[in-house]
Amino acid sequence: MAEIEGGVRSIAVPSGLAAVTHPLLALCVTGDHVLIADCAYGPTRSFAKETLRKLGVEVEFFPSDAASIKERLRPGTRAVVLESPGYYTMEMQEIGAIAAEAHAVGALVLIDNSWGFGASSMFAHGVDICCTALSKYASGAGDLCMGSITVADEALFRTLKTFLANLGTGVSSDEAYLVMRGLSSMQVRVREHADRALELARWLSVHPAVSRVLSPPLDTDRYHERYTRFFRNGNGLLSVLLHETGIEPLRAMIDGLEHFRIGASWGSPHSLVSITEPAASREIDQWERGRYLVRLHVGLEPFELLKEDLERGFERLTLKR
Ligand SMILES: *Cc1c(COP(=O)(O)O)cnc(C)c1O
Repeated sequence: MAEIEGGVRSIAVPSGLAAVTHPLLALCVTGDHVLIADCAYGPTRSFAKETLRKLGVEVEFFPSDAASIKERLRPGTRAVVLESPGYYTMEMQEIGAIAAEAHAVGALVLIDNSWGFGASSMFAHGVDICCTALSKYASGAGDLCMGSITVADEALFRTLKTFLANLGTGVSSDEAYLVMRGLSSMQVRVREHADRALELARWLSVHPAVSRVLSPPLDTDRYHERYTRFFRNGNGLLSVLLHETGIEPLRAMIDGLEHFRIGASWGSPHSLVSITEPAASREIDQWERGRYLVRLHVGLEPFELLKEDLERGFERLTLKR
């Protein structure tokens, strides 16, 4: 794991969420200040707003596409949490610049690298803690939960390892074995997912039902330039803003899909679809209320079937209107 992330030491934990929450619990004490990208994974946001705040840690969000967070950093800032691209909304932060600013006030930089696992070297950009949901492409079957915490510093590893040992947090050997088995084929699987997602993104970006495709690997995406500096390749996950964004027409579209099944835990060969209302889960970023976003995980089913499935779904949108 450490080798894939480009770090020195890795710790396996029971879920991707635990990989993010445990280091924050290990590092922060009452009175500390934590900065979190507004596009962070929903449960990470809830953890920060509920658990960290209850412990007396001050939690503040910053814009998801930040190039700098200088004016929000303070001497008491203990950690900066990045997630790039953002959960559902796919914004990208200027990781290297933010890490340099954070280090200048003594803060550690943690990134949820679930999207970029195997396709990035976050330590080269100054990140201190790389957290990954192995439940996704590493397992590759969508049937287990695991996460990894990777660091490039031996002292930080000791701090985290001791904290986790004190809590009694660990993973079973059977599940670790399944992840190791998944890792052996991950590279070729992800490449195939990424090729298909890019082809689908190109098709969607000129489709009359589509307002905007949110997918940094697409060369017309707003964050494509940042993407090329931080990632070697993409994967099967992308988001789509349709012209029709109301919940009822989207429901008709999605409920009738045959190959894209409703689900959130992407990374298996199965195509998935889910929706979110970004306005309901962002503190700073501006999203219109009632405007839903569709997220797709492009699986390994025959590609033409996936396109036809979506095409028929788009027809159901217009029927509803
Ligand atoms: C899936 C996911 C997680 C959580 O992983 P679990 O193993 O399901 O807890 C965290 N962050 C991101 C970005 C994810 O996609």
